Amino acid sequence: MDGYVERLLWVDLTERRVWDEPLDEEWARQFVGGSGLAARILYEMVDGDTDPLGPENPLILMTGPLVGTPMPSAGRLSVCALSPLTGIWGESNTGGFVGPELRFAGYDGVVITGRADRPVWLSIVEGRAELHDAADLWGLDSYETQERMRAALNEPKARVLCIGLAGEREVKFAAVMNDHGRAAGRTGMGAVMGAKNLKAVALRGTAKVPVADPDGLKAVVREINANVDEDMAAMALRLAGTAGYVDMALMYGDLPIRYYQQGEWEPASNLSGVLLADQYLTRSTACYRCPIACGRETRAPSYGLEKADGPEYETLGALGSLLMIDDLEAVIYAGHLCNRYGLDTISTGCTIGLAVEMFERGVLTPADTDGLELRYGDAATVHRLIEMIARREGFGDLLAEGSAALADRFGVPDLAVVVNRLEVPMHDPRAFVGMAVTYALSPRGACHMQGDMYGVDTGQGPPVELGVVPGDRFDDSEEKGRIAARQQAWRNLYNAMILCQFQNPGVERVLRALDAVTGWGLEVEDLLRLGKGIVTLKRRLNLRRGLTRANDRLPDLLMRPLAEGGTEGTVPDLDRLLAGAYAEFGWDPQTGTPPD
Ligand code: SF4
Repeated sequence: MDGYVERLLWVDLTERRVWDEPLDEEWARQFVGGSGLAARILYEMVDGDTDPLGPENPLILMTGPLVGTPMPSAGRLSVCALSPLTGIWGESNTGGFVGPELRFAGYDGVVITGRADRPVWLSIVEGRAELHDAADLWGLDSYETQERMRAALNEPKARVLCIGLAGEREVKFAAVMNDHGRAAGRTGMGAVMGAKNLKAVALRGTAKVPVADPDGLKAVVREINANVDEDMAAMALRLAGTAGYVDMALMYGDLPIRYYQQGEWEPASNLSGVLLADQYLTRSTACYRCPIACGRETRAPSYGLEKADGPEYETLGALGSLLMIDDLEAVIYAGHLCNRYGLDTISTGCTIGLAVEMFERGVLTPADTDGLELRYGDAATVHRLIEMIARREGFGDLLAEGSAALADRFGVPDLAVVVNRLEVPMHDPRAFVGMAVTYALSPRGACHMQGDMYGVDTGQGPPVELGVVPGDRFDDSEEKGRIAARQQAWRNLYNAMILCQFQNPGVERVLRALDAVTGWGLEVEDLLRLGKGIVTLKRRLNLRRGLTRANDRLPDLLMRPLAEGGTEGTVPDLDRLLAGAYAEFGWDPQTGTPPD
């Protein structure tokens, strides 16, 4: 099987046992890799009652066929399990170098089950896996842990996945961290790792990934790399990182302000990527073989911080404009705290945002918040709350359960801006209404990486050959729903191959690269078929976990028009959009279920 190492590592932490299993070729051909293949494996292992924090929930680390090959921007790793935050399918993928390193260490993926009776870490070096005692690592932050792992292995080039304090304390939106400040952030995969008493996975290897047609791959890689210098979106990312989108998002009304309730706020421009680059950027960083290098290394001297990773656009929104904080250094510092403790910046900012909104409305009082006054624009309190969440200290223990649980607890469930209990990222579906479909049908709850319709409608490399045609951002027709469904299928395939979504070399080149690596001889129409199959499998899993058609919805606050700004007066017709999307996926129009 070209494109695969053909080996999975299985780990039973309860029994402290590791062993190899062959990769199932048929599953690989159907679900490709990454979160697609991980979903297929998990589908066999869980049922409607499996506790996401219990030993039966497998934590799956999975690469895809492009990972570790010369294909640019394909250095990613999927981290998947049932989510403790949402109760349904959980996935997150991370950049950096851990994905390729896992393959060089000899494996396509790792399936971790059980629960160790005391903290452990796992090393996978040159095809050999071992469990080690982690008692002296428990309590370390994510940066220290990565350094300690390299020292323990005496491998300065080892790559490390780990949790910080938040994962250890099973904060429901804890992240898995790697390569300094890279994160598999969403859906609480760090809590799953913490519940298993697994502090870290360290990787090192020198094996090669078999490629069917090395010359064919070389040719397409050359074209892609040459194309990057002429691609406006890639150039913007190189210059200003994802933070470069802040100004544009503000203009479109895509950037959430004041917990999604305000359309305009001039100080938000203080969070722009250009300012970040001018004042706080120390260097750009790149993932494995990425010619774009969108990563930011920054500083926040007012906080005595000389080296921080990020912030990304999502962090600037969630810990900035959403909370009415326009102090760039304060946001850098907040993002850094999240990275240290291993917290998803989106869910952290959104949960704090909800708490602030509840406080402003009088739903929460100082009696509930350990005496803290929660107000918009108060960066110092946000920093304090992040610490409290990571430690599950006082009111932080409530916040650590996420927005939906917080709103439920105080009898205001409709106030939480979540879809299927996952906090909505920094793309407002009133600004690009195709995002309404993306969020409502995303297999992991509200997620912008499951169909970036803001990218489609602003012409950032849409796969037009697959019928994903850019159009009016406010068009909420059935056809738009179909387009959003196709984009969701395309991005699910991206998350299976795995390719970074900021690298958009076009359908033809992606197809040539996939074929050169695997030798599968696919046609363009096969790409949509594969992507739809992956989305449908994840949907079946979620239906088994209790979701129904009624869960395909948007939160109330996002269905209210804003009085001003780039989305003034707009609310998408979700039912019409969904009718198109169900038809595109071939699901029942009434129940939203896939055919048997
Ligand atoms: S574009 Fe950014 S996130 Fe994507 S692979 Fe390159 S450096 Fe990593």
